[in-house]
Amino acid sequence: MSTMKIQKKIALVAHDKRKDDLIKWIEKHKDILKEHQLFATGTTGVKIENATGLKVKRYKSGPIGGDQQIGAAIVDEGLDVLVFFWDPLTSQAHDPDVKALLRVATLWNAVLACNKSTADFIIRSPLLNEAYKKDLSHVLDYTADRQVI
Ligand code: PGA
Repeated sequence: MSTMKIQKKIALVAHDKRKDDLIKWIEKHKDILKEHQLFATGTTGVKIENATGLKVKRYKSGPIGGDQQIGAAIVDEGLDVLVFFWDPLTSQAHDPDVKALLRVATLWNAVLACNKSTADFIIRSPLLNEAYKKDLSHVLDYTADRQVI
């Protein structure tokens, strides 16, 4: 188990053709989001700050390693929620990084939204404002056999 605090660490990432959708979603839920710690890949982060005035910790731009940095932060349990509006209609040079981010977010049982409907359900969930014990037994079982942590 790992405990998410009441104030969540929320990563916000969007591919270029989905950035406007993400910004609109953030504007709509700004009053809720401002109570949490926000993180983003580089370009998404700049756009969020300019459009909404919210404070965001920015990693590198996605295509130059930002997705990997966010994945690493999830593995280190630094991030609780990932809202990732990836683009299902455009191929990306950094597709392996995108896949890796989705993989580690799933493996480490992060709260994960890849579209607006799921993001809406998460933002209205009472669990967003409660401490939450995240089950990591599948990861710990795996690592117990391997002696890697
Ligand atoms: P960006 O990266 O916010 O720097 O555009 C997003 C991504 O492609 O993962």
